Amino acid sequence: MVKQEYINQLVGVQGHRVLALHFGENRKTGDKELVIELGRHESKYRCPCGRELDTYYDRSTRMVRDLPYGPYQRSWLSFPQFRVACPDCGVVTQELPFVEPRLTYTKRLAAEVALSCRETRSLKAIAAQYHLNWKTVKEIDKQALEEELPRPAETPARLLAVDEFSIQKRHKYGTTVIDAEA
Ligand SMILES: [Zn+2]
Repeated sequence: MVKQEYINQLVGVQGHRVLALHFGENRKTGDKELVIELGRHESKYRCPCGRELDTYYDRSTRMVRDLPYGPYQRSWLSFPQFRVACPDCGVVTQELPFVEPRLTYTKRLAAEVALSCRETRSLKAIAAQYHLNWKTVKEIDKQALEEELPRPAETPARLLAVDEFSIQKRHKYGTTVIDAEA
């Protein structure tokens, strides 16, 4: 039997340990599926403001998509999501280091998908590779671009010329915007 600590290391989710692994198969597609059930490691609950609390307000179970594990191309992390009653902030959802609030996939999956989007392949191909919806891939790509690209400078331009060009036939487009007078 593989030691518990090795499994924790393999899954590698900060502040959490693996409680159970559920192996399955998608009835429609036949894809192998894995649900990794996580439990909390830490005893304190931290409000997004930084204050540490001994107890929580309430908890729910949250499930988000994670990286593929070997043949398990579709995998989820299932973990408790706590809300804390902070004396300063009121009842707020605890922040987690591995997933953004309200998103349905881990930060590390988003990072991999965003990297694939840089390869000028179609969103559809990337969605197929990660067994994700293409809308999710588009959302991740957009989010990553917003974080990476500098905000455009304020410009006094009065007349703009816009042109769209194709990077890879029909799959990816770039847009050029220039000051038509300058
Ligand atoms: Zn707070």
